[in-house]
Amino acid sequence: MTDNISWQHHQICKEQRALRTHQRPCVLWFTGLSGSGKSTISDALDVRLHEMGFLSYVLDGDNVRHGLNRDLGFSDADRVENIRRIAEVSKLFVDAGLVVLTAFISPYRAGRDEARAIMGPGEFVEIYLDVTLALCESRDPKGLYRKARAGEIRDFTGIDSDYQTPQSPEIRLDTCALSVAQCVDCIVAYLADNGYLTKSD
Ligand code: ADP
Repeated sequence: MTDNISWQHHQICKEQRALRTHQRPCVLWFTGLSGSGKSTISDALDVRLHEMGFLSYVLDGDNVRHGLNRDLGFSDADRVENIRRIAEVSKLFVDAGLVVLTAFISPYRAGRDEARAIMGPGEFVEIYLDVTLALCESRDPKGLYRKARAGEIRDFTGIDSDYQTPQSPEIRLDTCALSVAQCVDCIVAYLADNGYLTKSD
């Protein structure tokens, strides 16, 4: 299928864009159960990075399913394809010099590992929002757990679909013990300590 397609090299490369934006482009890959706080924390982090003068962009599960991935459902195969496309889009955004924040359940270890493999070395920062199913269910921000328990939604992660816990994420945050602002502080500290953010003005 790709026999007649060759890679077009461009004159401006990722490193040149990174120099312009004073940041090391990467993807901050949030993973966790529905209601663990991926959307909330990625949005708050996006605000913080913007205020600090960095260029970031959030790819959020529901938003992407409205457009790019509107043809995909929640079967195992579709979840795999959902994550593969997000990883490929993230790679393009990283190439464009951005710090990309992805907020998807991304329940399968293999999918997250594939996403990591698609990115370059050091460009994938896995952030596991580690909270119990019981807490997520009590939050139930979109009423989805209630529907899943009532049998109105099938293949719901944590109920009748598996969530595979990350084994060695770069960052693990307990959003039960930490406030949203504290979670953002932790991530910004990690990024600063590891050379992702190179200016403070
Ligand atoms: P997800 O994107 O993982 O499905 P959401 O961000 O949509 O999760 O929902 C998380 C819910 O939990 C929100 O209603 C948010 O206000 C609430 N919440 C309470 N404490 C926290 C916290 N420390 N971090 C993130 N979300 C929190």
